[in-house]
Amino acid sequence: ALNTEHNRPPALVRKIQRNGPQTPRTDVMLVTPWLAPIIWEGSFDQKLLDATYKPLNFTIGMTLFAVAKYTRFLKPFLESAEKHFMQGYRVNYYIFTDIPEQVPRVELKPGRSVVVFNTVKYSRWQEISLRRMEIINKHIMNKSIREVDYLYCLDVDLIFTNHYGAETFAPLVAVLHPGYFNILRNKFPYERRPESQAYVPKDHGHFYYIAAMFGGTLNNIVDVTAACHQALQVDKVNGIEAAWQEESHLNKYLVTNMPHKILSMEYLCNSEAPTPASVKVCRFSTVKKNHAEIRAQ
Ligand code: UDP
Ligand code: MN
Repeated sequence: ALNTEHNRPPALVRKIQRNGPQTPRTDVMLVTPWLAPIIWEGSFDQKLLDATYKPLNFTIGMTLFAVAKYTRFLKPFLESAEKHFMQGYRVNYYIFTDIPEQVPRVELKPGRSVVVFNTVKYSRWQEISLRRMEIINKHIMNKSIREVDYLYCLDVDLIFTNHYGAETFAPLVAVLHPGYFNILRNKFPYERRPESQAYVPKDHGHFYYIAAMFGGTLNNIVDVTAACHQALQVDKVNGIEAAWQEESHLNKYLVTNMPHKILSMEYLCNSEAPTPASVKVCRFSTVKKNHAEIRAQ
């Protein structure tokens, strides 16, 4: 039944397709050894993607933790997301906080909403950060997060600075860490102690991913968060904490469960370091923060 009128692409898609492919980038890696695309400016046609995906009326979910002093990041984050994140799609922002009254009122476009969940404040900032795996997992399992086509799990100390849309859709998607691109795998800051569940041998792994963003379908997010939570628990019982907490465990998981799509550093720019020449557009950028001040309880 492949050739039925029903299965033909919409007219807009056919029109864009007649314009032919774009000239591909040749200065960056566009595909992984397991044939997953790596997304860079100039590697995709935004209009074609939107013409393909918008008719499907997807809902995109986002989890955001703003515990203790991190509530201050919510306003700039949400305001920038309303400008750049998934424009024209339905979006549910799931905000986890211990201070719900500090969730700002931000004007949202139609089809977009904020859902606030109460969460406890753990005493160590590392614990606040790594417990996200457990909390996201529980909220999907108990169905407080459901009916989203894709879920993005993001840090809150960031702002959107450019288009961030359908080109990121994938069953499981991760982002290259801007600090560890183009270096040899034996230099990646994976956890190297075999006693940790996050252990990655020197000759394993192709990329080092940043934990400030991962995404995918609910099934995949359930799996990755469950695996990381369980590994974190085992390490805790054994009295070991991986070098970069949940980021180490996420990387360990992704070594064997390779993502279907990888986002370049455009999707996580370090605003405090020079932008690499390969990054033509910063889409999502870190916000400068005083670590000592903001992490003090
Ligand atoms: N976080 C929080 N309150 C805290 C510490 C962390 O809400 O006191 C959340 C917040 O979403 C933050 C994330 O955990 O973006 C990761 O922590 P952080 O951004 O400080 O880690 P970094 O990006 O500096 O490694
Ligand atoms: Mn952060």
